[in-house]
Amino acid sequence: MSTALVQYTAAAVSDRGRKRPSNEDAFGYSVEHGVFLVCDGMGGAAAGEIASSLAVDETMRLLAAEVVGAPTPEQAEKAICAANLAIYARSQRNPKLAGMGTTLVALIAGERQVWILNVGDSRGYRLRNGKLDQITQDHSLVEEQVRMGRMNRSEAQRSPLRNVITRALGTQGQVTADIFALEAEPGDLYLLCSDGLTRELSDPLIESLLRLELPLDELCARLVGAANKAGGHDNITCLLVKAG
Ligand code: CA
Repeated sequence: MSTALVQYTAAAVSDRGRKRPSNEDAFGYSVEHGVFLVCDGMGGAAAGEIASSLAVDETMRLLAAEVVGAPTPEQAEKAICAANLAIYARSQRNPKLAGMGTTLVALIAGERQVWILNVGDSRGYRLRNGKLDQITQDHSLVEEQVRMGRMNRSEAQRSPLRNVITRALGTQGQVTADIFALEAEPGDLYLLCSDGLTRELSDPLIESLLRLELPLDELCARLVGAANKAGGHDNITCLLVKAG
């Protein structure tokens, strides 16, 4: 077994897509601290943008700006709860922002382990040895129906309820993130993305693009380009983290 510590590189692209007037997605990362985030906001007027950028700013402040070295998964869970409260409090103070919320998918990269945390339907994937696996489970009404065997995947994709998410940051005073712990191996490639990517591109197509072994910024551009070519119905964000 190798004792070398895993090191990380990253790149991200966020794009408005071809149909939406604004971009309510947000991302943030610090390679130095091993913190990577994608958020997809929702709410009327500018509320979605406010929710997603508040989530990124608050989480990055607590996990990068004010922490020395890499945060623990417990610190990440606490930061997500604090970000949730910050958004919720802001929406309580301003009626125009009532009900705003955001998804969040975060990757915390340690020297030998990686943790992925999620709330909502933004996803975390891992490409290992050319094979793509979805790590997170969507907190959405249709995904829960699929998991309970009440709906199949193609029904879920066509359902008028496919946009309904069952967990979000900021819509209630409390939130619980799912957390997935993974061993880090050199060569692993992680993708964090909003549903604007995964609604347009199938997992096999995402896998085939990620296998191209291009620079990370070029891979992000290819993913976003392919999602726009497929329709670009929603904002598209992808963040890639490579373990080397
Ligand atoms: Ca979206």
